[in-house]
Amino acid sequence: MEIEYSNIKVIGFDADDTLWVNETYFREAELEFAKLLSKYETVNKIDQELFKTEMKNLPLYGYGVKGFVLSMVEMAIELSNNTIDNSSINRILDIGKDMLNKPVELLAGVEDTLKTLFGDYRLILVTKGDLLDQERKLEKSGLTNYFHHIEVLSDKQEANYLKLLKHLDINPSEFLMIGNSLKSDVLPLVNIGAKAIHIPFHTTWAHEQVSKEKENNAYKTINSLLDLKEILK
Ligand SMILES: [Mg+2]
Repeated sequence: MEIEYSNIKVIGFDADDTLWVNETYFREAELEFAKLLSKYETVNKIDQELFKTEMKNLPLYGYGVKGFVLSMVEMAIELSNNTIDNSSINRILDIGKDMLNKPVELLAGVEDTLKTLFGDYRLILVTKGDLLDQERKLEKSGLTNYFHHIEVLSDKQEANYLKLLKHLDINPSEFLMIGNSLKSDVLPLVNIGAKAIHIPFHTTWAHEQVSKEKENNAYKTINSLLDLKEILK
């Protein structure tokens, strides 16, 4: 069945890896961290263990670079059996600071798409993670003025979306969410009666991956934001 988009009034955009590059920087940081600790373990093993530590800490720290840095420090202490030197800890802190200071690299077609949609739709930005870091990235992106509302959620589950739509007085059936994560930007939306479009990014954090069975026909997948005009015309 063809998905109907003609009644959409509000479009929500995810930010990281939908509007700008993000996950790539985490992959680079993980690699650098693994190399720094390579005398203790293999790169693969360090990668796996770091992910486990991040998952364990997620309820306490939430998403974002700062929690990631704390997990790297914890891992370094553990892997080195409490012998890690100060210069290595310093290097880990610098990996985090470098991530926070990265320039914002917009993905293909972002500004043109927002410009085209602005006026015809209410556009909102819905991201999760660290408030200060997301605000900084949005500021650097130069995209602030395209959005009627900006929301940084602690998580993107059905309940978070329902609360947001209620607060903004948006009927779920008139809301379309666009993002790179099936788990965070697509499936929760179709489950609450909203529409969603998936635009995969070339790399997906293991935590955001979903099993094949969860994929369904209730949303569309496109290759790039440039394909959006065709769907919404
Ligand atoms: Mg994303």
